[in-house]
Order: sequence, then structure tokens, then C-alpha cells
Amino acid sequence: MRIVVIGGGAAGIGAAGAAKGADPSAEVVVYTEDTDVAYSPCGIPFVHGKEIDSFERLFLATKEQYVATGIDVRYETAVEAINLSARTVTVAGEGEAAYDRLVIAAGWQYADPEVPGADLDGIYEVKYIRRAMEWDERLDSCKAAVIVEAGPVAMEMVSALVHRDIKVTVVDPAPWPMADVIDPDIVEPVRQSWEDHGVDMQWGNRVTAFTGDGTLSGVATEAGPVEADLAIIGTHKVANNPLAAAAGLKLGATGGLIVDSRMQTSDPNVYAAGDCTEIPHGVTNVPLQGLSGSHAYAQGKTAGTNAAGGTRHYRPVYVPWGMLAGEWMIGGVSFGETLATALGMKHVVGKAQGITRARYYPGVKPITVKLLAEPETLRLIGAQMVGGEGIKERADFLAMAVRVGITAEELATMENVYSPAIGALNEPISVAAQNLLAGLAGSQ
Ligand SMILES: Cc1cc2nc3c(=O)[nH]c(=O)nc-3n(C[C@H](O)[C@H](O)[C@H](O)COP(=O)(O)OP(=O)(O)OC[C@H]3O[C@@H](n4cnc5c(N)ncnc54)[C@H](O)[C@@H]3O)c2cc1C
Repeated sequence: MRIVVIGGGAAGIGAAGAAKGADPSAEVVVYTEDTDVAYSPCGIPFVHGKEIDSFERLFLATKEQYVATGIDVRYETAVEAINLSARTVTVAGEGEAAYDRLVIAAGWQYADPEVPGADLDGIYEVKYIRRAMEWDERLDSCKAAVIVEAGPVAMEMVSALVHRDIKVTVVDPAPWPMADVIDPDIVEPVRQSWEDHGVDMQWGNRVTAFTGDGTLSGVATEAGPVEADLAIIGTHKVANNPLAAAAGLKLGATGGLIVDSRMQTSDPNVYAAGDCTEIPHGVTNVPLQGLSGSHAYAQGKTAGTNAAGGTRHYRPVYVPWGMLAGEWMIGGVSFGETLATALGMKHVVGKAQGITRARYYPGVKPITVKLLAEPETLRLIGAQMVGGEGIKERADFLAMAVRVGITAEELATMENVYSPAIGALNEPISVAAQNLLAGLAGSQ
């Protein structure tokens, strides 16, 4: 059994490890264009922001450790074509390589801003660790940065650049950051904290060109020029699927590879995982592409296990998410009001402001929870949160609550931990659910 994996990100490495685990006798070869595998790109913005003192800390395993596991990783080696009928891939510098099973984990790229001047020196796509190391040295001399659309990574970079005393201008055609996933009331404290730190936010504006003579000196926008010696690309993710498309594998409406619950593509010998796939949303069945590293890794494990002859299924997703933004944590599950409205989904809302520890305990932080439920059944369909701590645990819990069909009535009467140092008497999730029910009772 020869299993070939294209891509050494979270999905590819998850697939390779799981394949080897399911069939230790299988030959597993990973081709990656990158210089390294087994590092956490998620930590890059925090090294730039100096919360983490070194890029070395982001490496999770050494190249030697991969050799020891029996996985053959070919670094800086691009796969150039896939031939489904011959069951081969064309590898740069190596020629044709045969496979019994192929796992495509080719990941994502930032959407091309499609404006002139993209070849200027000074434009940074935050993705690969060696490039981040080079950029980190340049940040010391950067004076002013423009963020070209405030996607999640770019939002983390705003904080990093502020920590580095770099003047930041955000230019984004949307009306607020990450407008496709977060509601304006939830992100308002973040916007306020950026404003307090001097971030110039130009919502509803669009970059029309990168300007400069060889090196970036600014951007042109619909509202006028912005001076900058650094541009961070924060556009949405696009699935990296030119090879899969050229090979004739079926892509969905998002541009992601269509897979079944075993992560099998339209070709029975080819599996796919991570941000190059699309996965149905558990509530709407709408396919989603470009989820997260944790989704990519779990999908990789599913694809790798099945490619090696095992059985593992990946379920529709409810997308718990959370992150630091400005001086806040934000997060959520499935939908906010904005997205639910855009999708035409009827919903009722309950919101509560609470605290994360006893009010007298040092370090207590505010937290706001907003819940969305189906009007008829009162089943939870989404949540949005902003606060000082405890967002991740609530997002994970609420994603499971949506998945199993928990109702607002059940949440309104949930039990909760009260212990001054770690939790307040009233759980804000429960209070939000109570407020949702009270709002319904009041409107009848
Ligand atoms: C700065 C940053 C911060 C992030 N923060 C978070 C976070 O906080 N939480 C979270 O869950 N996730 C985070 N992520 C993860 C991210 O959002 C993705 O979900 C994740 O990277 C997807 O993994 P993947 O393996 O599908 O794709 P990728 O990470 O894109 O990996 C694909 C790999 O395939 C290689 N490849 C592509 N085509 C070929 C080819 N033809 N031949 C050989 N190799 C090829 C690429 O070079 C790349 O190494 C972050 C990512 C970045 C870059």
C-alpha cells in the first residue's frame, strides 16, 4: 500500500500520521512545497506581537522525529499534476510517482486582492514560518502598515503591529471586521479598543492599488491614498485546488473538493482533507470551505485512516470559533444575527451580559453572550460572544449544544459551576436563554 499525501499542513500531517497508524506497513509519502512540517502557523501572529519569544517554540516535532515514525516527508517539493487513471502524481524534480491511495491536503491561499502593484516588495501574506521569520526582522524598521481586509489572521496581526508600535490602517469594504461571521454589537468593543490604540479603521473602503517604486510606499484606495511601508493581506481564504480541478475531481460551489463523510472525493482512490475541501454545515447543509486548523487536522485523520483501509467518519460542522481581538476575546458558533438574516433563517435572540468569576474575585472579566434559536422549536442554532475570558470553553459547549439539538428552555435551566475564582453564580449562557424566553413571553 503506497499512500501519497499532497500538503504538509494540519490536514496533510494528520492524514499521514493516521494512515501510518491504521496500516503501519503502508508506505506513506508527504510532498510539501513548504520548508517545514509540524509547526503551528496559528502562533505566528503572537511571535510577531512578541507574546511568544521565538518562532522555534512553534515547532511541534523535528524532521528527525518524522523520519523515526516512518513517514517520508519530501520538503520543498511540489506536486505538479495528478493522473487519476494511471494513479500517479507528477512531482517536480522527481517525475511520476505511483500511489494506491492519494490524500489531497493542498490547503488554502489568501484571495488575490486583484489590484495593480502586487509584485512590490513590502506585501506580506502571513502563512509560512520561514517567511514569517524573515518578516519579523523587517517589522523592527516598519513605520506604518495597511491591513488589506480584516480576516481573522489579519485581526490578530492588528494587535501584533500595535504591540510593535507600528501605525496601523485597516481598509476593508465590509462595514466591520469579519462581518461575515460576527455581529456588529459583539465586535463593537474590539473596534473601540483598536480606536483607543490609534488604529485608523476605514470600513466601507477598498484598496485599488499597491503603490511604490519597487518597494511599497502606500496603497491607493477608493477614499484616497494611505502611506505604508508594509501591507498585510487579510483577504478571505480560497481553496488551493488547481491540481484537483485539472485532474477532473469534483469541486463544489465554494471551490472546495466535494467529499463524503469518509473524506473520499469523486475518485474512489482519492481522499481530501482540510481547507481544500468543503464540508456541510450541520444546521443548513450549506457547504463551508476554509474552516480552521482543528477541523483540518481532524479531517486529515479521517482521510488518512480511510485511505489506509480503516473506517472513520467526519460529521457536518457547527464551527465553534474564538480568538483574541484587541483587548477582547470574541467567539461564536454557527451563525450570528447578521449571517442568519442574510441566509433567510428565521430566528429569535436572547442576550445577556455577565461576569466570568465572582464579582469580588481578582481578574473578573465581563462577558456578553448572545444566543439564536429557531422560533418554533427553540432549538439553539447559533451563538456570539465577546468577553475577557472563557470564550473557547463556551463556544465548544454551545457547538455541541447545537449539534445535539439543545433548546433555549434547556439552557435556561442548565446547571453551572459556581466557584469564585473560576465562575460566577449566574452563567451568562443560561441568563441569555432566560432572556430569550422572557422576550418571547413579552411579545405574546
Ligand atoms: C497565521 C495563521 C494563523 C492561524 N490561526 C489559526 C487558529 O488560531 N486556529 C485554527 O484553528 N487555525 C488557525 N490557522 C489555520 C488555518 O486557518 C487553516 O485552517 C489551516 O492551515 C488549514 O490546514 P490545511 O492543512 O488544510 O492547509 P494549509 O495549512 O494551507 O497546508 C497546505 C499545505 O500544502 C502545501 N501544498 C499545496 N499545494 C501543494 C502542491 N501542489 N505540492 C506540494 N505541496 C503543496 C502548501 O505549501 C501547504 O504547506 C492559522 C493559519 C495561519 C497561517
